[in-house]
Amino acid sequence: MSTRYTGLIEKYKDRLPVSESTRFISLGEGNTPLIQLQNIPRLIGKDVDIYVKYEGLNPTGSFKDRGMTMAVTKAVEEGSQAIICASTGNTSAAAAAYAVRAGIKAFVLIPEGKIALGKLAQTLMYGAEIIQINGNFDAGMSLVKEVADHAPVTIVNSINPFRIEGQKTAAFEIVDELGDAPDFHCLPVGNAGNITAYWKGYSEYAESGVANKRPVMCGYQAAGAAPFIAGKMVDNPETVATAIRIGHPQSWDKAWNAEKESGGWFDAKTDAQILAAQKMLSQFEGVFCEPASATSLAGALEDIGSGKIPEGSKIVCTLTGNGLKDPDTAISQCKDAHPVTIEATLDAVKKVILDQM
Ligand SMILES: *Cc1c(COP(=O)(O)O)cnc(C)c1O
Repeated sequence: MSTRYTGLIEKYKDRLPVSESTRFISLGEGNTPLIQLQNIPRLIGKDVDIYVKYEGLNPTGSFKDRGMTMAVTKAVEEGSQAIICASTGNTSAAAAAYAVRAGIKAFVLIPEGKIALGKLAQTLMYGAEIIQINGNFDAGMSLVKEVADHAPVTIVNSINPFRIEGQKTAAFEIVDELGDAPDFHCLPVGNAGNITAYWKGYSEYAESGVANKRPVMCGYQAAGAAPFIAGKMVDNPETVATAIRIGHPQSWDKAWNAEKESGGWFDAKTDAQILAAQKMLSQFEGVFCEPASATSLAGALEDIGSGKIPEGSKIVCTLTGNGLKDPDTAISQCKDAHPVTIEATLDAVKKVILDQM
């Protein structure tokens, strides 16, 4: 038997809604690294095992690929010729790529000027039909829901249940690798599809005895876009973490259910905390994620510091997207780095090195 990895549907097909005759639309997504942090626990002086699930290594650079391989596979199986989504960027990149793979059309609604450069570049290159709107993600989402009743398009936002099915496999991978569920699982929360999906995955593994327990689920939002902390929908959400710049989460009830059943909590982190965590991961661990992704670590670090997450815990933080998605925010955070320019001579290079040692 071949051991070539051909994507998460093939790997977990017994636990996904596919059959022998389903054509899998795949780009080899999933199977992402679970990296144990080595320097940050030492730096904060706490005895904790922190792992990051580095979803930025999916084919289009975010966890959205897990959901999109399933959603597009099912759309094609059901005879759909076109998919549509509203997006803060990563969903549009994933939808565009998987539509190309399947040979169908992708329409994406994005908020004008509020999408990170890398995500825009991807969506343009994959050749999706881009519809920019003078409005935010929430406005785009409500338009998409309406238009799907008037045109032959399949919605591939996380309100599509197949997205959740695909994304639950991240929890399977973590349990398969650690031998059981962690004590705590920390996630950035926007629409709350992903926290819903992880909870479903952990629950299914626990029910069938693959895992002995389920983790406490900790969902972190950006302070300017924090409906779960406000306890109600938020209009005009604002944050540097554009992937979670969402005020009207679509998986509201399901996410509250995950929080309650797991004994977990929601909390908000400021943009400054989010960016500090992003930089810390890069500069102390060599892991570069996008701003929204670092919200999980920002939250975990504060709750470890306060003792809410006790020492001795095993913690997994999902890093939802790749740092290369948003080069502008990364470069603007490194204004203090002054690359030197010198003559192209051995002496000049040697001097720079010796001055730094
Ligand atoms: C989509 C996205 C999120 C939010 O996930 P939800 O399922 O909407 O809660 C977080 N980070 C990144 C990088 C994303 O692309």
